[in-house]
Amino acid sequence: MNSDKIKLEKHHVLYPRKLWNLYDSGHKLRTNNALIVPISHAAHLLIHGELEQVPLLDTYTLDRVVGIFMPRYDSSLTMGTNYINNINKFQDAIEEAIDHPRASRAARSVGFTAIEALDYQTHIMRKEEL
Ligand SMILES: [Zn+2]
Repeated sequence: MNSDKIKLEKHHVLYPRKLWNLYDSGHKLRTNNALIVPISHAAHLLIHGELEQVPLLDTYTLDRVVGIFMPRYDSSLTMGTNYINNINKFQDAIEEAIDHPRASRAARSVGFTAIEALDYQTHIMRKEEL
């Protein structure tokens, strides 16, 4: 797909807004530029149509993910525009966070579901050769 001729839309990988803005930690992650991806209208419709939401992580996991992910991706100089790579690093941060000895069974389960939801999104993005 030639993206030069297509007007791209900004997609927040972590959505819906009301859900991810519930806690400061979720808001911080949602509004991190590394996780706001320019995609075509068609891809945008597909993602939101197939995936109503990325499940919100519990507050402990959110805090851990912020601690792991943000230091690596907090500046526009370091975040890069390889969005699929950014999302993969974010998935790694979730995995690391739910690997914590005090992470509950529920926290792990939601974490894996969130990772899967992100897998679906990168699957669509790969088709656009971002
Ligand atoms: Zn979107």
